[in-house]
Amino acid sequence: MKAIGVIGGMSWESSAEYYKLINRHAKARLGGHHNARSLLLTVDFAVVEANQRAGDWTALGVQMAEAASQLERGGAELVILATNTMHRVYESIEQAIDVPFLHIADPTGSALRAAGIERVGLLGTRYTMEQDFYAGRLRERYGLDTLIPEEAERADVHRIIYDELCHGNVKDESRSVYRRIIEGLAARGAQAVILGCTEITLLIKPEDSVLPVFDTTGLHAQAAVDWAIDSA
Ligand code: GLU
Repeated sequence: MKAIGVIGGMSWESSAEYYKLINRHAKARLGGHHNARSLLLTVDFAVVEANQRAGDWTALGVQMAEAASQLERGGAELVILATNTMHRVYESIEQAIDVPFLHIADPTGSALRAAGIERVGLLGTRYTMEQDFYAGRLRERYGLDTLIPEEAERADVHRIIYDELCHGNVKDESRSVYRRIIEGLAARGAQAVILGCTEITLLIKPEDSVLPVFDTTGLHAQAAVDWAIDSA
């Protein structure tokens, strides 16, 4: 099995989820006492979040590139970035390393296509919902049409991520807010919903959604383990 390098900390709540999921999937695939061979590098989310708010994606690209090359120097044979938002700067990472980088939108795009979905709702941070780096990849590589919530709903989705989920606060009232927003996306024609932020999986489970759920955290973690095993 090859070694997976995870750039985490955005927030550590979802990195912990990745750690659990990659090990669970390795055990499911290989049985016995198998773990996923992995390295987790945790960046300081306070710095990342401040640069996001300032719109300093150049500084963020440099920071992510440094983290990726640190993982490669430590022995990672594949690098993944445990956040959707920071994929805005994925090219900086790819340029910094010689080992493969597995983009978070790809396992999700493939799973949606395999399920025959054409029109999908996207929930994530404002950056992920409103900028084209994510929906554009889904459109160009997977032919998917994405639908995002209305402005006031996007504000709620974003606020709940940063003010609650990134601090590990999982609230029933916020789950109800997300449920209603997913219902709205369904009414507008979405056939499924992407949990396009790696903390949303802490709040929303398949049974909380009127639409089939495509969870980027679980799909990404699983794809990384499959790669680590199948390419060894
Ligand atoms: N983890 C979140 C995401 O998947 C948001 C936090 C961040 O990295 O900015 O987009």
